[in-house]
Amino acid sequence: MASDSFSINLKDGCYHFSGVLNEFANFEVLKMASDPLRLNLSQLSKMNSIGIRNFLRFLADWGTKEIYYEHATSEFIDQVNMIPSMKGAANQAKILSFNVPWQCLSCDHEDEVYMEAAKVEPLLEDNKELSRTCPKCGKEMSLLVDSFFDFLTS
Ligand SMILES: [Zn+2]
Repeated sequence: MASDSFSINLKDGCYHFSGVLNEFANFEVLKMASDPLRLNLSQLSKMNSIGIRNFLRFLADWGTKEIYYEHATSEFIDQVNMIPSMKGAANQAKILSFNVPWQCLSCDHEDEVYMEAAKVEPLLEDNKELSRTCPKCGKEMSLLVDSFFDFLTS
């Protein structure tokens, strides 16, 4: 399917990734991008290890210039939490917004909620629990991954 192949489209000063980040992903267009680089990841459907390695190579070339990630998928955040260099050569990338995966231990319902770092960070600083009510059964939901917000605090 066409939607599976990786592409990068510039829209309103922001580069939108879409499709599968794999061995065929090409970041050539970003070499001409101006600083700060804004990447929107909402249409990124999947990532494999070779695609991630190629992206890390691009980040190394980009160096210490500013990067913003917007609408990061939860899969992308998982990778950021595992691979520190996903935040750039100087750990400088800022993740402005992302999808947070939740699970309900009462009824097994799982979903993702879009959140902005600017709203989440003050809660984490105050050690306030982020919470979500299950839309199916009304019980309190839990984060699917306990360490999900590590990328904001590390
Ligand atoms: Zn539930």
